Amino acid sequence: MTDTTMQSPANSGAPLRLRGMTQAELEQMTADAGFPAFRGRQLFHWLHRKMARTLDEMKNLPVAFREWLATNAVMGGVKDVVTVKTSQDGSYKFLFELEDGRKVESVLMPDAKRTYWTQCLSSQVGCAVDCKFCVTGFNGFFRQMKVDEIVDQVLFARRHLLTEQPGANFRNLVYMGMGEPLLNPDAVIKSIRLFSDREGVDLSPRRITVSTSGIVPGMVQLAEAETGACLALSLNAPNQAERERIMPITKKYPLADVLDVCRRYRYGKHKRVTFEYVLLAGINDTTDHARQVASLVKGIPCKINVIPFNPNPTLPFGRPETDDVQAFVDVLGAQNYTVSVRWSKALDVDGACGQLAGQHRQRRGIRGVEAPAATPEPTPAQFAHALGDLDFFAPVAAESADEDDGEDIR
Ligand code: SF4
Repeated sequence: MTDTTMQSPANSGAPLRLRGMTQAELEQMTADAGFPAFRGRQLFHWLHRKMARTLDEMKNLPVAFREWLATNAVMGGVKDVVTVKTSQDGSYKFLFELEDGRKVESVLMPDAKRTYWTQCLSSQVGCAVDCKFCVTGFNGFFRQMKVDEIVDQVLFARRHLLTEQPGANFRNLVYMGMGEPLLNPDAVIKSIRLFSDREGVDLSPRRITVSTSGIVPGMVQLAEAETGACLALSLNAPNQAERERIMPITKKYPLADVLDVCRRYRYGKHKRVTFEYVLLAGINDTTDHARQVASLVKGIPCKINVIPFNPNPTLPFGRPETDDVQAFVDVLGAQNYTVSVRWSKALDVDGACGQLAGQHRQRRGIRGVEAPAATPEPTPAQFAHALGDLDFFAPVAAESADEDDGEDIR
């Protein structure tokens, strides 16, 4: 038969990007093309449940239908994987190339007992928000990611995981990679719906978390979309003035407005917001800061993740002393907040978001930034929204066992 491999959307010029379409959209497309609508459902299964990379894998689809697809549509998604690095802690770090040559990255990490897996996704190529402690922000914004590009990070990584470790429990997704997801809300919301489709990847929405720097319209849109996904707010300072200094987006979306959305809307089954607080030595890490945080978020159902900063040679911040981290946590704990300290994973493979793609750009001379002559050991990790996010769910398993165990996870 005709070669129906569709690896290069750019070459086809076709508008339909299959990996970004819902089952209903695929069925409609199929019926409109004169094929039985159930072929669209089969196609959805191949794309999302079986994670097929080519049309030729879809053996139960008629040749005529596959040939129509090859002519009129593209698979969409990532064009290639540039590198897959495996960390000593079991994490996989993927650097993906998109059809225009841009690079994005994603990390797939196990919990401490390696019983389940969490993937950290990118939602934009680069980021315009410019948080002062973030490598992705430092490197700037390039473009939005398409739905199919967001989705394919998971399809590719999940297939890789199940090939290497059959039966592995792929359980959580966090939008904490490159980019501000709520500046690309339509694509992110649609991708959540695709991931939680029972006939596809079939992830529980409560296992999906969107992390934001505080984009008020996007936060409202996500809440009103009622996807069931959870929200994490990258807080990082206890008042407007100090937050503006490290997160300039606060000038556009004031902290009071951001917290007002957290009070008025509910996200996820447990209706708790996660506040992420990156501790920067000498900047936002005193016990007085902790007391301010406690009073700032009072009345909002929440948990707080405290994330000691991982130094990076390109950024002018340091990691607090362990005693200072503990003192900060103790203040919050004394006021009955649920607090966890998060430490990054996959440091030996540039495991936090923004770093691998950033190094790739540096080596290629984009932005004219020289790559460090020698990378310190362990490789300093950077992050997107939550830095230590790479350990985002592992400790939560114990903390929230009473919430999770024995329930239908949907
Ligand atoms: S922390 Fe997130 S929102 Fe801020 S610059 Fe980095 S990627 Fe963008």
